[in-house]
Amino acid sequence: MESDGGKTIFEKIIDREIPAEILMEDERCIVIRDINPGAPIHVLIIPKRKIARLSEAQNSDILILGHLLLTAQQFAKRQGLGDGFRIVVNNGPHAGETVPHLHIHFLAGKPMIWPPC
Ligand code: AMP
Repeated sequence: MESDGGKTIFEKIIDREIPAEILMEDERCIVIRDINPGAPIHVLIIPKRKIARLSEAQNSDILILGHLLLTAQQFAKRQGLGDGFRIVVNNGPHAGETVPHLHIHFLAGKPMIWPPC
């Protein structure tokens, strides 16, 4: 897991310090392709203003949290994903969080099983 100090890898991508495949961007968030995909379509929806993880979000983050979900909806529409998609947030080490900068995993392109673990 990355340390909470300094810039996260996602802040470096947002600031164009390291490359990534950027699929969507607006003033609040960025959508990039995951470098290690777990499904044919696997992207990350990342707020530009860093929130370390969902458990540290504040009531004042309500607009950005809603915006991330609506961005997932918009991405699915643009990709024509009528068969469905899955969104996942890994919160903390037991959940598999490796980057301490909130992000939504968006997975699609194949049938998925449930439960996931
Ligand atoms: P998590 O384990 O939930 O914190 O998810 C972090 C995700 O970031 C993993 O799925 C990684 O494959 C992905 N990732 C790490 N570094 C990069 C990068 N430079 N570009 C794109 N995705 C990345």
